[in-house]
Amino acid sequence: MSQGPPPIAATKLMKKLMADHFLGLDRAAREGSPKVAWCTSVGPAELLHAMGFDVYYPENHGALLGATRMATETIPVANAQGYSPDICSYLTADVGAFLKGVTPLTKAYGIETVPKPDVLVFNTNQCRDVQDWFEWYGRRFGAPVIGVRTQRGVGEVHQSMVEDIASQIEGLVPELERISGNKFDIDRLRETVGLSKQCTVMWRKVLEYGAKTPAQMNFFDHTIHMAPAVVLRGKPEAVSYYETLLAELTERDAAGMAAVPGERFRLYWDGMPVWGRLRMLGDLMMELQTAIVASTYCNSWLFDAFDAADPFRSMARAYLELFIVRDEAFKERYIQEHVELYGCDGIVFHDAKTCPNNSNNRYAMPQRFSEVHGVPTLVINGDLNDLRCFSDEQAKTNLEAFVEQIAEAAAA
Ligand code: SF4
Repeated sequence: MSQGPPPIAATKLMKKLMADHFLGLDRAAREGSPKVAWCTSVGPAELLHAMGFDVYYPENHGALLGATRMATETIPVANAQGYSPDICSYLTADVGAFLKGVTPLTKAYGIETVPKPDVLVFNTNQCRDVQDWFEWYGRRFGAPVIGVRTQRGVGEVHQSMVEDIASQIEGLVPELERISGNKFDIDRLRETVGLSKQCTVMWRKVLEYGAKTPAQMNFFDHTIHMAPAVVLRGKPEAVSYYETLLAELTERDAAGMAAVPGERFRLYWDGMPVWGRLRMLGDLMMELQTAIVASTYCNSWLFDAFDAADPFRSMARAYLELFIVRDEAFKERYIQEHVELYGCDGIVFHDAKTCPNNSNNRYAMPQRFSEVHGVPTLVINGDLNDLRCFSDEQAKTNLEAFVEQIAEAAAA
């Protein structure tokens, strides 16, 4: 087996931050203060922090269920309640876990259950499933479910769309004031939007270490180190974490370390991670001396538009400009730009059975990349959480053959 580089030391700090995050939420839920808001992964977190809520992200919990492979046992529980095996397996894994009375937080932190929400706040910019998911918990806990309804398949982002979303976000304020008992303070919002902007700037710098040759970090590292950008954006802890990580990456770079020693080829990953098979896929790519240097998924927590001077409108634009909200032409351009920027030799599209929203192979994009752009592509069938949809053998055979094909083309 090929040897990877020494582990990234900042991981220890990140684990502590995650422990503090979940233990803080658990305490808040038990003591009733501060109030707890559940938020979708690209929901208006900055406003919730500004209003004094502790913010919990169920999709992050869904990913933990996938990574620990607990999802395999919890998904069927939600299926039995009428939530189809074809819908989001974050939703089914999470609802099933709640019904079964289990959570990965118990083994990790001794926490008995997910924090009871005082309010659930969604944004449908990513999909409709998040709203249905939150409404299930809203009924269960008798908690209000409020949110933002966003256009999908957006080509150019027009100002009228930004105004619409900005007024929807601002429209959440009275209900959030009522639930939190705190008065809205625009300066506090400016502060949290400013912190999220700093987080974006630094997370982008981290991702750009993948553009070096050889890459300093790969997709499998990114899926770990993105956690603060996902669950702590809008807070100073995320900014200071990325300062620490970037200082270490600078040193690793100077010492000539590579994410995949002996890197021969570089790939772009489009689509969701297969959370329960990250280790297997990471080891395989290490063996193949092929680095997955960039991905659509880990770029999803970059919000360039944030501007503390214009918090509502800039939040609206940031959450509207996201890749997942856009039309096919935008997505194709975006991937092509990243393939060039990161010097990729090919693209792997993960067709996740239960997430059409993050599976961009379904309208012939791989064929267009091969035929129009001359970039080799591979489609892997699988899922984010439901391992019944993923075959280790098939993925291994396909990835090996794909790298072989790239090697032959390079030698020709
Ligand atoms: S975007 Fe996909 S993975 Fe994320 S919540 Fe929606 S359906 Fe689930």
